Amino acid sequence: MKDNDKRIGFTTSIPVEVIFAAGFIPLDLNNIFINHLQKEKLVEFAEEAGFPRNTCSWIKGIYSTALKLKMKRVIGVTQGDCSNTHALMETWQLRGIEVIPFSYPYGRDEKQLKYEISKLIEYFGTTWAEVKKVKQRLDKIRSLLIRLDELTWKEGRISGFINHLYLVASSDFNGSFEQFEEKLTRFLDIAKKSPKINAGMSLPRIAYIGVPPIFSDFYLFLEGLGVHVVYNEIQRQFSMPYLKQDITEQYSSFSYPYGAFFRLKDIKKELKRRKIDGVIHYTQSFCFRQIEDLIFRHEIDMPFLSIEGDRPGNLDARTKLRIESFVEMLYERKQKRS
Ligand code: SF4
Repeated sequence: MKDNDKRIGFTTSIPVEVIFAAGFIPLDLNNIFINHLQKEKLVEFAEEAGFPRNTCSWIKGIYSTALKLKMKRVIGVTQGDCSNTHALMETWQLRGIEVIPFSYPYGRDEKQLKYEISKLIEYFGTTWAEVKKVKQRLDKIRSLLIRLDELTWKEGRISGFINHLYLVASSDFNGSFEQFEEKLTRFLDIAKKSPKINAGMSLPRIAYIGVPPIFSDFYLFLEGLGVHVVYNEIQRQFSMPYLKQDITEQYSSFSYPYGAFFRLKDIKKELKRRKIDGVIHYTQSFCFRQIEDLIFRHEIDMPFLSIEGDRPGNLDARTKLRIESFVEMLYERKQKRS
């Protein structure tokens, strides 16, 4: 390593165990971007640098985030995440950022995935044994996140918004798993004694599928209409709720990089287990994943609403109206059934 900067940015979930084991600080650039007070400005900054208007705002946001944070190294996920990542990596290289490639092999080939993880281990100068130790440590926190998720869907004591916040943050544990664990433990102590949000199951139970929303007020608006979001699909995947013994097995169970049909296996199981009344599928403007909306619509046999977000900020009036009508319809269905 040429310098002492310990921060390692990344473009989507990667085996963070390797980064922690080597004594570095993993930072999910998506989380930093979306929590930034001037996220709109970060998108504009990328456009001023030459990014086209019709490129996904997450790409523009994380491009600028890495530059503003003066990141020295970023791990770019070249397969299994985003069709824009290759070009994004080149734009970072142009600005002097070292880019380390990582890929989730097509078809979930475990041999290939193990090779990808071993390349990271070699790059960061750690060992499989050290990585295993960190994995066992992180699995304790992942068990707490499973508890958080159960307190949401099974016991109804946590809102979908708070569930989203914790699960999405577990992609990098905010750079410090010790601090993350401390905060989460304190929160769970309070949450398990909190009153139930949906006692009697009278409120419609919603599943949110797709990448995390770029809207700031999505959960507040939706749950403000009197529904409970009890499943955040991709965010839950970021928390790796599988507790597999082997790290390769863990990352081949991670559904996000492996296409719509593999994701559907997890989605269908959870829709049933969580007694979902309706599904909201979020897609991002200019994202290839928008095409997959037709697969989810075809395969999911229950009330389904597709929404689309473009730039960071609050929900637009039209999307609000569509969400309101959807919730109204769910209430009517629920009333008819009871
Ligand atoms: S939303 Fe789609 S286009 Fe945007 S970064 Fe994610 S995968 Fe890429």
